[in-house]
Amino acid sequence: MVLPASSLKITIKLEERSFNSISNSNVANYIQKASWSEEGLFYALDLGGTNFRVLRVQLGGKDIKPESREVSIPPHLMSGNAAELFGFIASALAKFVADEGRSNGVLNGRQRELGFTFSFPVRQSSITSGTLIKWTKAFSIDDAVGEDVVAELQTAMEKQGVDMRVSALINDTVGTLAAGSYYDEDVVIGVILGTGSNAAYVEKANAIPKLEGELPKSGNMVINTEWGNFSSSCLPITEYDQALDEESLNPREQIFEKLISGMYLGDIVRRVLLKIASQSSIFGDINRTKLKTHFILRTPDISAMHHDETPDLRVVAEKLEENLKITGTSLETRKVVVEICDIVTSRSARLAAAGIVGIIRKIGRGTAGNKEKTVIAIDGGLFKHYGKFRQSLESALVELLGEEASKSVGIKLANDGSGLGAALIAAAHSQYI
Ligand code: ADP
Ligand code: MG
Repeated sequence: MVLPASSLKITIKLEERSFNSISNSNVANYIQKASWSEEGLFYALDLGGTNFRVLRVQLGGKDIKPESREVSIPPHLMSGNAAELFGFIASALAKFVADEGRSNGVLNGRQRELGFTFSFPVRQSSITSGTLIKWTKAFSIDDAVGEDVVAELQTAMEKQGVDMRVSALINDTVGTLAAGSYYDEDVVIGVILGTGSNAAYVEKANAIPKLEGELPKSGNMVINTEWGNFSSSCLPITEYDQALDEESLNPREQIFEKLISGMYLGDIVRRVLLKIASQSSIFGDINRTKLKTHFILRTPDISAMHHDETPDLRVVAEKLEENLKITGTSLETRKVVVEICDIVTSRSARLAAAGIVGIIRKIGRGTAGNKEKTVIAIDGGLFKHYGKFRQSLESALVELLGEEASKSVGIKLANDGSGLGAALIAAAHSQYI
């Protein structure tokens, strides 16, 4: 078949050395098993890859009910200038604040506070400042690189008349870890499987050679691995991955992410289909213009085809026609398409599982007889919406850890954890405590 099955059998050993080789890995001590006992109304703004979410939550007690709104980012703003992007975000935030309503808690004359989840590599200088190292995913806004993203947001908010202080700048993995550990103290790893992919975990401070100066009181730190940028000759890179990388906005970067995440899986499948179309006649005599269009087949499309349970694979036929203008396919051909979706997705899920197991091993967990529970909180549209991806990830974890050892390991969806975690961390760093 197109991707050799043997390439799926792979584990990634994340050692100290590999962390150092992952450029941009950074450490933060924002969680440290905070008591999460803060109260009050807090906001979060989650800028991921495709959409951004604004969120508001009244903290106090375990039963919190965040309100949120999702806004998709117009593609032209992803490659325009920083002021336009932040202006657009701040205006959506202003609208969200405007309908706060009385039921949402009292501010008691306090300034509103916000946690900002910014899911791109940042050199973080404090809890409220960090400069953008580089864009990833579909973003490419040159004038923002090297700038402090909190200052940019703060300026844009002021222009929109939003009186709000950014109390914390975090990464989505750290947010997911925080939100996960709010509900379950056994959560020690936060993973993002959405448009992009990344992971953060709790590490003993004395196991971090990079760390200088005083160690945090809790003895723990959070490491944002930026695993999306992991690359190794042991990764199963195919000709399709190579071409996708070369033609991407960020060639030779984010290699692991390009094998795994939602932004790319649909396009890998498209590239395989294009090759098949050029070397066989199973799709008939088709015009390949659509098939040649980058990103025209999206991961939700391959998910829909992969989950097609109709006897004649009607959904596959519809998706091929709708997206690629391929019509009149035989059932056999549709089955081939489903198999390609399966191979690409299970490779992704298995690689993600391998990354998770690498971290579990790094922190000495997940061995047979290990009494400590280890829970991984996962957020992101790929994990949330793609059932077969999730199943494949779960079974790969058991396979890699072994039946017995895997009993001490659990995974959990942290729905909107990246945003909720930002509100929690903003509360923990409120100017009023
Ligand atoms: P972000 O990275 O922007 O925060 P999300 O966590 O919301 O994004 O994830 C969005 C990504 O999830 C999309 O880019 C897409 O790849 C994937 N996705 C969304 N819906 C589905 C679906 N139904 N099936 C599979 N993948 C999906
Ligand atoms: Mg996100």
